[in-house]
Amino acid sequence: MTTAEHSCEVVVIGGGPAGSTSATMLARQGVRVLLLERERFPREHVGESLLPASIPVLEELGVLPAVEAAGFLKKWGATMVWGTDPAPWSWYFKETNQRNPHSYQVWRPQFDQLLLENSRAHGVDVREGHRVVEVLWESGKATGVRYRSDTGETATVRCRYVVDASGQTGILARDLNLRQWDSFFQNLAVYGYFSGAQRLPSPDETNIFIEAYPNGWLWSIPLHTGWTSVGAVVDSSTGQSEISKGGLGEFLQAQVAQAPHTSGMLREAQLESGPFIVKDWSYVCERVAGDGYVLAGDAACFVDPLFSSGVHLALMSGILSAAYVTSALKDAEIAEPAAAAYHELYLKEYSHFREMARLFYSSNLTSDSYFWEARRLLEGAGNFTPRQAFIQAVAGQPPRGYERAVLEQGKAPLEFASSVRQVESERERRRVRWEAARSGTDTGDPIMTAIPRLAPGTLTQRKPVLGAGEFVWGTVLTTVSQPEGTPCSGLIAALVSQIDGEKTVDQLLDGLISLGDESQADQIRQTALAALGILYVDGTVEELGGL
Ligand SMILES: Cc1cc2nc3c(=O)[nH]c(=O)nc-3n(C[C@H](O)[C@H](O)[C@H](O)COP(=O)(O)OP(=O)(O)OC[C@H]3O[C@@H](n4cnc5c(N)ncnc54)[C@H](O)[C@@H]3O)c2cc1C
Repeated sequence: MTTAEHSCEVVVIGGGPAGSTSATMLARQGVRVLLLERERFPREHVGESLLPASIPVLEELGVLPAVEAAGFLKKWGATMVWGTDPAPWSWYFKETNQRNPHSYQVWRPQFDQLLLENSRAHGVDVREGHRVVEVLWESGKATGVRYRSDTGETATVRCRYVVDASGQTGILARDLNLRQWDSFFQNLAVYGYFSGAQRLPSPDETNIFIEAYPNGWLWSIPLHTGWTSVGAVVDSSTGQSEISKGGLGEFLQAQVAQAPHTSGMLREAQLESGPFIVKDWSYVCERVAGDGYVLAGDAACFVDPLFSSGVHLALMSGILSAAYVTSALKDAEIAEPAAAAYHELYLKEYSHFREMARLFYSSNLTSDSYFWEARRLLEGAGNFTPRQAFIQAVAGQPPRGYERAVLEQGKAPLEFASSVRQVESERERRRVRWEAARSGTDTGDPIMTAIPRLAPGTLTQRKPVLGAGEFVWGTVLTTVSQPEGTPCSGLIAALVSQIDGEKTVDQLLDGLISLGDESQADQIRQTALAALGILYVDGTVEELGGL
């Protein structure tokens, strides 16, 4: 046995989707990364069904061609039996997302290995069969880890940052007592892999199928290997007591027997692997970044798998945690606000999925009512129909959140905000009023003498925003309808900060020109006026006095 001491810039604990994503993105920034994974890949893992929000991340990682070539089934949507409708109902991602209308049903041992090999190809020092046994601390700062390999080697590695992506093990959450358990979602899952399962009728044959039954709910996920992943999610304490009587196999069979659609699909099927049991308790950490450390993926939080959000959250937090570490390594001053920004972005996405799952668990509605409720929960969904608001919510948001999702639809954020909201009558009225004020008269453009007033609660804040691979200082516009804030340009920030309920539009535009480059006066005027129109239609500028 040998004991050694060495160093690197960042240690990543765990080579699942969160760890490999974080490591790859850090290596891209030129950071020296050591990734320690206790298993040897390919290793078994539950969680096969992905969301479209993961596609841009896989693209950014450079691994999408390999994922495509692996032959995983394309997942176009979901089919559910839930609530008072006894018949299955389906939705399709293409209803709200033209660019990424599908995701994949992946075989996790293969998928996770692709991502890990991609980290290696990016220069990450990946060591499989290496278990982190301890995180090292000095004056409250994480300064390294101690690990043991499956060949008996132990070593200490010193580093500037530790990324904890150890999944449900949650080494740092355990050390720092950060995990807050969610009393609402304390379930367990028993699952296995079947051959010969019948698939849903076309066009839904590659959808995830979810069926609620009196004890809980069952998933069926078709895989490209020909197998189907089938699992039952039930309340933890009732599940435990039933399992203790008859064992896992009998338990799974008894759950399937209570669900007529799933039983029909499994009539001719053979169990090939499993059954396995896994704890399915939701939790969130009260802090996801601190002195010398950051948490990503299941190490940071876990939400009930009803909407297949786990890998998406792992990939998203992999990107964001790497951005956080990159910025903190470069600029100590940005570390704390960037940690807050990371926490906020992460929690927002986590909470969407938690709220959606909570809605489904706590009510027995028709599908239409679920869509309406989804829309109510997601006030920022603009004027999507209730059904679209629901699909938008369960498809997930890529790491750049609102801005990124909008860019995927090929439009800039503010244009998108106005275009999706136009059909709402209030916004339509505002748009008509704005256009009337812009259509010049003999005496000039009447808008110029109007006096804009901001809606209460509107403010701009200097905050870290996600740039190319790191958090950078930027300006965020916070409004009543977007309380989490939308990154905005310096010009819009300057415009908003000058609106005081006294200056006319003409005076505001003159003020902006005097702040900038006078040779660009025409362009500044046009851009600022267009932005003002968008802010007015959007309600951020509540009133145009004097019109
Ligand atoms: C019942 C159930 C069903 C699910 N279904 C889905 C689904 O359909 N779709 C979906 O997207 N998600 C699903 N999930 C969630 C999903 O599986 C996880 O959210 C996802 O795997 C998280 O990725 P991660 O990288 O954070 O953690 P993991 O994938 O768990 O990776 C963590 C890695 O850390 C390693 N590790 C742990 N401790 C140490 C240590 N001390 N030293 C070194 N390495 C260590 C582990 O070996 C592991 O490889 C499901 C979860 C459950 C419980």
